[in-house]
Amino acid sequence: MKKFYCDTCGALVFFENVQCLKCQHALGFLPEVLDLSALEPDGEGRWRALSPSAQGSVYRTCANSREHQVCNWLVPAQDSEPLCASCRLNDVIPNMNDDRNRERWFKLEQAKRRLVYTVFHLGLPIDGVPAEGRPALRIRGKIGPRRGRITCTSWMRWKLRPVLGCG
Ligand SMILES: [Zn+2]
Ligand SMILES: [Zn+2]
Repeated sequence: MKKFYCDTCGALVFFENVQCLKCQHALGFLPEVLDLSALEPDGEGRWRALSPSAQGSVYRTCANSREHQVCNWLVPAQDSEPLCASCRLNDVIPNMNDDRNRERWFKLEQAKRRLVYTVFHLGLPIDGVPAEGRPALRIRGKIGPRRGRITCTSWMRWKLRPVLGCG
């Protein structure tokens, strides 16, 4: 994971941060350019990314940020999908009827976004191609009695098969 710096004040900021602790600017992660950006309000719930890598693009927060505060990734303003590129990979999310699960889900999503960052950074294909027997990347986040876990999906088994030399 590379280091990120606030686009406004230059302070070191971290992958999970939603605000710069030094200058208080809102922060959000831009999956298309794999960059954490300082943000300026742009009206109607939209945000203008200040990172040079965003080239002035406008974004919305992920629906899982607005509704559950478990995500800091952004969605391009023109994208009709309410969830960010990471959250839209979720097949299963924890049961939100249990209040204790929100905190667990928050930690689970943090770990998952690091995994998805790595997949994007390596440029691995995430869309399924049935003709080639390639499943799409999907994530199942489950909360056990003690901890959350991300279960091994068919995509991960497919991806690891050549490495492990099995099947
Ligand atoms: Zn700052
Ligand atoms: Zn999200």
